[in-house]
Amino acid sequence: MENFIVSARKYRPATFDTVVGQKAITNTLKNAIKNHYLAQAYLFTGPRGVGKTTSARIFAKTINCLNLDLENNPDVIEPCNECESCLSFNQNASFNIMELDAASNNSVDDIRRLVEQVRIPPQVGKYKVYIIDEVHMLSQAAFNAFLKTLEEPPPYVKFILATTEKHKIIPTILSRCQVFDFKRINVVDIAKYLAFVAEKENVQADEEALHLIAQKADGAMRDALSIFDQLVSFTSGNVTYQKVVENLHVLDYDYFFKISDQFLSGDISSVLVIFNDIIERGFDGQHFLIGLGEHLRNLLVSRDAKTIDLLETSASIRKRYYNNSNKFSSAFLLKALDLNTQCDVNYKASNNKRLLIELTLMQMVALGSGISESVSKEQIPALPVQKKAKERIASPPSIEEKKPYAAPVIKEKAKEDPVVSTKISEPEIKEQTVPSQTKVEESTTSVKRMPKGIGLGVSIKAEENSKLEDVNPDAYMIGKEDIADEFTQDDLDKVFNIFLDRIKHNQGLYATLKTNKAVLRDGFIIELRVHNDAQKSVLDEKKFELMKLLRVRLNNYKLKSDIKIIENGNSVRIIQPAERYKAMVEKNPNLKKLKDNLNLELEF
Ligand SMILES: [Zn+2]
Repeated sequence: MENFIVSARKYRPATFDTVVGQKAITNTLKNAIKNHYLAQAYLFTGPRGVGKTTSARIFAKTINCLNLDLENNPDVIEPCNECESCLSFNQNASFNIMELDAASNNSVDDIRRLVEQVRIPPQVGKYKVYIIDEVHMLSQAAFNAFLKTLEEPPPYVKFILATTEKHKIIPTILSRCQVFDFKRINVVDIAKYLAFVAEKENVQADEEALHLIAQKADGAMRDALSIFDQLVSFTSGNVTYQKVVENLHVLDYDYFFKISDQFLSGDISSVLVIFNDIIERGFDGQHFLIGLGEHLRNLLVSRDAKTIDLLETSASIRKRYYNNSNKFSSAFLLKALDLNTQCDVNYKASNNKRLLIELTLMQMVALGSGISESVSKEQIPALPVQKKAKERIASPPSIEEKKPYAAPVIKEKAKEDPVVSTKISEPEIKEQTVPSQTKVEESTTSVKRMPKGIGLGVSIKAEENSKLEDVNPDAYMIGKEDIADEFTQDDLDKVFNIFLDRIKHNQGLYATLKTNKAVLRDGFIIELRVHNDAQKSVLDEKKFELMKLLRVRLNNYKLKSDIKIIENGNSVRIIQPAERYKAMVEKNPNLKKLKDNLNLELEF
């Protein structure tokens, strides 16, 4: 393998038909030759390495080929590569082709020399072809010197100007040329060509490996071939996917599939560990973001048979995307892509780039796993999805259900004199600070106040109203609605304990659910029992997560939840800051005066 010939040169196409990925252009050129309709000058534009110069050379060779027989063989418009003219072309010894790299020969003198040669007709063959590469680099004076010749060249002269920057070509030149726009070559075409080269060279190469090289080459065949050459020598002729990943320092698909799986499972820790692994392997954050964005985009286009062709991957990766894509809703993918883009935009300006990405990943997990907002609030401090209203859930039930907790209390009392206000709030404070007996009262009144607290129908409705519905409408349920495995109370307990572990920080609810385990009712209703409205609202928020956990782990997607408020005098009470404030005001009404006079806001 040491003497591996540089493929980029060796496998440079020698005929129109072997030019990769530019069919439209080569066909047009062939037709022009066939119909004797040759322009004086051509402008080939497009990115580097996509076949501009190669096509120009084939064109020059073909129109000079001695075996080109348009009368008797009009359908073979290719150089024979055998005649004297073709052979001298192939050996770079033809006098009929002049190549000038305008990047290094851009002076007036260079152009003058060229113009002088134009006067001498070809000795062998019909045409003299001048290929001027990077023509936009010509100096203004050189352009001017060239213009006259370009306007009225002798009939045996053809110009082919090539450039990567068409916008820099002045209109007077553009208007004299027939313009061809060369496209980036797509990954599949490049990979196919690499496979062809590998076979010719007896090199072992995975399809995935070649696709990866093609992707890295970004549409340029020349780059793809030179990367391929390097890898052949690095790997001693056995180009595997893994080795390409290592050598090209490419972020593996595996990483992204692992991460997106965790989006659904809700496992924030795993995502952070995977991301850490990526950073430790020396990838920079933005590189990762670009890869993640591409991955999400690939998942999105794989969801539809119409767009799956937009995937520029090998067949096996494509299949993997296809199989994975149905796990995600379009809404989730769009939202995740949006988060990814925002992160990318803010990346440069961020002082803590790593945290920015981690935060974005956490948001995606929250989004994808159906972790309710209150949970995400606890785990992710700065989630934009968190809503003021959610804070209410952590507080005890207030007099008014619909408004943020602090508001009504302050408003009502502000109008009144402190003495009266204490009187009014008295029973309310008792109700909340004195445990047992009054608690029962509270529970019953709240049931009365909110009859929707009970019953299956209501819990489904609550789910419909959930904010999550907008983002991830039960994506994990798709296609599984009819699965309903049987399970025992013991199975249920095990899964329920996992959930309990997750809500340990909420001591009150944890204690309640620990003593009142979830039970199966009517074959498909999971009955959950809590002590009061506050606990119920917290549980309502987490219900989505819980039901997902139960449905998936127990493999029963017909399960529904029903949360009941039961009376129990011995429950553990957590005193909330709001209650503490009320109690303090009760003891010392001056506190409220102080608050009002100084116009202070309560922070709960
Ligand atoms: Zn020939």
